[in-house]
Amino acid sequence: MSKIFLSCEEASHVCDKAQYKESTLWERIKFGIHILFCTVCRKHSVDNQKLTKAIEKSKIACLDKKSKSEMKTCIEQELKKTGY
Ligand SMILES: [Zn+2]
Repeated sequence: MSKIFLSCEEASHVCDKAQYKESTLWERIKFGIHILFCTVCRKHSVDNQKLTKAIEKSKIACLDKKSKSEMKTCIEQELKKTGY
C-alpha cells in the first residue's frame, strides 16, 4: 500500500470509504493525487458528495443514528440479561 498512484478501482474504493469517514489521511492524499489527473474519478467523487449531501438533507442519516443507538441499547440490555 506504499505506492502513490492508485488505480481507478482503488480510487473509487477510497472515495466510498471517505464518504463514511473510514479512510485514512494517507488514502485521502492518494485519492487527491489521483483525481488531479483522472477526470472519471473526479466526477465520481463529486457525484458521491452530492449524494451524501442529499442524504443529509433528507435526514436519513439522522434517523439512522437514532436507530443505531436504540439497537445498541437493546443489545446491551440483552447481554445483561444473559449475564455477559
Ligand atoms: Zn480514476
